[in-house]
Amino acid sequence: SEFVKEEFSQGMLRSKTVEDILTPLKDCFMLPSSAMLDFSTMSEIMQSGYTRVPIYEEERSNIVEILYVKDLALVDPEDCTPMTTITKFYNHPLHFVFNDTKLDAMLEEFKKGNSHMAIVQKVNNEGEGDPFYEVLGLVTLEDVIEEIIKSEILDE
Ligand code: ADP
Repeated sequence: SEFVKEEFSQGMLRSKTVEDILTPLKDCFMLPSSAMLDFSTMSEIMQSGYTRVPIYEEERSNIVEILYVKDLALVDPEDCTPMTTITKFYNHPLHFVFNDTKLDAMLEEFKKGNSHMAIVQKVNNEGEGDPFYEVLGLVTLEDVIEEIIKSEILDE
């Protein structure tokens, strides 16, 4: 019945975590904060097809900002604008969540906030040294919705 179906996907949302569905850091299309918005960088962004691009400093694990492709509407590639000029101007909030965040909680976060992307991190205390935050990847509303749809199809 509809009710059983509803319970099934609710159960999945309560048990699965963002770590189960994220896009791993190595597969994320990102750019360094040192990038210049010249013709080559801007075409790379357009060709990636993504609407949001995390911006990192020094290392890919150090995400500091986020660029929305729509921020580029008024950027002229001839001007070679520094990436940071644009990211500092728009200053979109960056959201971090822990790897064990359940999908129902993540869905609520996405519904509340205006950003539909979060950076997933975990506390790494595996080595000898002090525990540190390790970035695992990113998750978007789209990933959560895809998971809900999959679970509903499986149930049919
Ligand atoms: P978009 O609007 O850019 O297509 P969505 O939120 O619809 O992004 O997500 C579609 C898929 O792409 C999801 O699996 C999401 O994790 C992934 N994704 C979103 N942005 C990026 C990015 N910059 N690099 C790699 N994967 C991304």
